Amino acid sequence: MSDFLVSARKYRPRTFDRVIGQDAITLTLKSAIKQEQLAQSFLFCGPRGVGKTSLARILAKTINCDKISSDIVACDECVSCKSFNENSSFNVHELDAASNNSVDDIRNLVDQVRFAPQVGSYNIYIIDEVHMLSQSAFNAFLKTLEEPPKHAKFILATTEKHKIIPTILSRCQIFDFKRVSNADIVKNLNYVASQENISVDLDALHLIAEKSDGALRDSLSLFDRLVSFSESKLIYKDVVDHLNILDYDYYFKITDQLLTNNISALLLSYNEIICNGFDGQNFINGLANHLRDLLLCQDIETVCLLSKNEKLEKRYLAQAQATNDRFLVKALKLTNECDIQYKLSSNQRLLVEVCLMQISSIGYDTEIKKKHKNFVVSNQKNNDQADVIITNNNKEKTDQIKETKDINVLDKSKQIKVEEVNDVVSDKIDSRNKNNYVVKAKTISILNVIEKEVEQEKLEDSDEVLRSNKISQDLVLEKWKEMILYFKNSEKTNLAITLGINDPVLIDSSNIEIPLSNTSQIELVNQERYNILRFLRDKLNNDLIDLNTKVTKTTKENTPYTNSDKFKEMSKDNKYLEKLQQELGLDPDY
Ligand SMILES: [Zn+2]
Repeated sequence: MSDFLVSARKYRPRTFDRVIGQDAITLTLKSAIKQEQLAQSFLFCGPRGVGKTSLARILAKTINCDKISSDIVACDECVSCKSFNENSSFNVHELDAASNNSVDDIRNLVDQVRFAPQVGSYNIYIIDEVHMLSQSAFNAFLKTLEEPPKHAKFILATTEKHKIIPTILSRCQIFDFKRVSNADIVKNLNYVASQENISVDLDALHLIAEKSDGALRDSLSLFDRLVSFSESKLIYKDVVDHLNILDYDYYFKITDQLLTNNISALLLSYNEIICNGFDGQNFINGLANHLRDLLLCQDIETVCLLSKNEKLEKRYLAQAQATNDRFLVKALKLTNECDIQYKLSSNQRLLVEVCLMQISSIGYDTEIKKKHKNFVVSNQKNNDQADVIITNNNKEKTDQIKETKDINVLDKSKQIKVEEVNDVVSDKIDSRNKNNYVVKAKTISILNVIEKEVEQEKLEDSDEVLRSNKISQDLVLEKWKEMILYFKNSEKTNLAITLGINDPVLIDSSNIEIPLSNTSQIELVNQERYNILRFLRDKLNNDLIDLNTKVTKTTKENTPYTNSDKFKEMSKDNKYLEKLQQELGLDPDY
């Protein structure tokens, strides 16, 4: 066996300053050590692989060092530091709560806490994945955490802060670790590569960073894996192949096809993607991300959220110019719907294809068409010369270009000279032509898109006007009776009877309340709600009418069922009946 050490361990940070992407936390801890105001218990929260355990160890090592430097770095020479570096320190106790979560495990730990350290000033207890402790283990731990001896420090780490009980939370100083930014990950990978004499492609590192989703440790594991394939040279193409990533080129191509409504090309591209073994949902999500990135490019303010390298950023900006917010927002909506339905669909391929076709049909509105044409024309021309000269044969094209605000158009003898434009385009062109690039200074507005849609819908529905005749209680009663008859005649006797039990009440201008005796009646009415409302709205000429059901104690509860009940009821109205019964000795039950 070789003594290969994975990068994540080999390059584990050893000082506060080497911890990546958690500047706020390292700064706070450093100044706390400096001022000797260190808390007794800490809770490190945050996603996995962002440096919680590393920072806990650095903290443990530093506060036990005899000769801390002025910028809070452990000396690496004192007895404590040496034993720490050899992993033989008695001051640091690590417990992985994921596998040791019983009460006994915690009791063992609590028993140790009493003893003062032999070397160094503190005993440090690092409990990883603390949310995995059982309820009784938590309770056993609570007392110690509340009143720890002076020489004990606790560092709890968790990926799931919400699972920590409040009594623990309130006893700790809490630090929330952030996901590491792509730029920081790339910087770190680049550092590791230079230390290991591996030549790397920055694009490749960006891809790894993206794939590791903010977890530094994951990025290093990926890096190790890829390097082992590619023998001290890491290029973009290899990373794409090995990570099974659909690279940007596909998404740029597909987006172009969407914008030109080129459905046959779209279907072929998607087929190619499937044939290369990619999953449809993966693709749709990737496309959604691509569209989101294009949306970010619509506004100069949000371009910074892209976190791509410079070359790629230009490519995004170029394609973004060929689209607009309306297209992107609608397309994102469609990809999102497709993503939700994907798992349920029995024909997933068709689902994705339909989604692509839908997107391409929204893309092909006039504005996009113009934009895309300009984009393509300038693109081609840019290939030939630095200044973009578009020969124009028809007036239509002239108008189109005039409308595009960020292009200066000079119309001279059927020639349009476009200045200060689209240096944007492809990287190849960019390297040949030294141009400045223009981004529209406007904001993304989803509201605009939605408003347009609503207007459109209103227009479509404009021939349907809502009826809103005034209605009264009497009118409602009259139509109600008609309705009961109507339902009776259409063999909905049950419904007719139910509706006849109580009179409806008009509560306000449009709400009608039906008092009902029980929930099964309400169910029946709700089942027929549509028919009831349709009848009432038609007869009363009011589309705003709505129904409320309400359970009431009705008089019907006292409905006489037995003969003697009926007799009692009747004799209330006619006192002679009782006399008659007594004189004749009648039994009303017979
Ligand atoms: Zn030291």
